[in-house]
Amino acid sequence: MVKTTANTKHVKSQTLLKATLIASGIIGLAGMILVGRTYLGGRNKMVFSYLRNPSLYPEYQTEALSRCGDAPFLFPSTGFIGYLWDDSFKLFSRHQGIDIFGGTAAGKTPIYAPYDGFLTREEGWRSSLIIRVPDDPLNPGSQIWLYLTHMADADGNSFIDAAFPAGTYEKRVAAGELLGFQGDYSGNPAKPVGVHLHFSIVRDNGTGHYLNELELNNTLDPTPYFGFELNAKKSGKSEVPKCRP
Ligand SMILES: [Zn+2]
Repeated sequence: MVKTTANTKHVKSQTLLKATLIASGIIGLAGMILVGRTYLGGRNKMVFSYLRNPSLYPEYQTEALSRCGDAPFLFPSTGFIGYLWDDSFKLFSRHQGIDIFGGTAAGKTPIYAPYDGFLTREEGWRSSLIIRVPDDPLNPGSQIWLYLTHMADADGNSFIDAAFPAGTYEKRVAAGELLGFQGDYSGNPAKPVGVHLHFSIVRDNGTGHYLNELELNNTLDPTPYFGFELNAKKSGKSEVPKCRP
């Protein structure tokens, strides 16, 4: 009798344990799917597939120097726009620009100025340029800045055109002018990024200097400047960002 009660209790507690494990397993799995969808799914999958074999996905690419409709900016570099403005591909980070993956080795895919302006390459900048546009074509009277980066190899050897050495300030450039080539520089030679151009539109601080590009709020949604959807929150996760006139 005593034995039976003990057995029943034992069976009950085992059942409870199983149920708890199953429930927490389901909750854990749901959590993983949710996090995966938000941070790892969708565009990550497309980027990895594309980078493994870009020749399989020619329809993913947008051509350098193309213009979508009557948008003000020329597209700066040929490639697949793998990540969009306000994308969240890392926990707690929001992407301030667009990433254009050329699908080539580093140093091969050219990058051009999207718009007329005045180019600065600060001392010590290996892979970055910024172009001052005194009169925002979509907001006349206000100044914006076009930031371009990852133009160096993993070790930091620059792919920026020789016309713009470090320490270049306010050099006039025209839309369509060659600036350099896509690279995989990340700052850490052991962990290069996939070869791409990061492009963002940075707001002015009101006194003629650019704000910190790393803050999403200091940047503008590039959508109206290129004439097609580049806002991660508005574009479908499995949709290829492209001009569809
Ligand atoms: Zn980027």
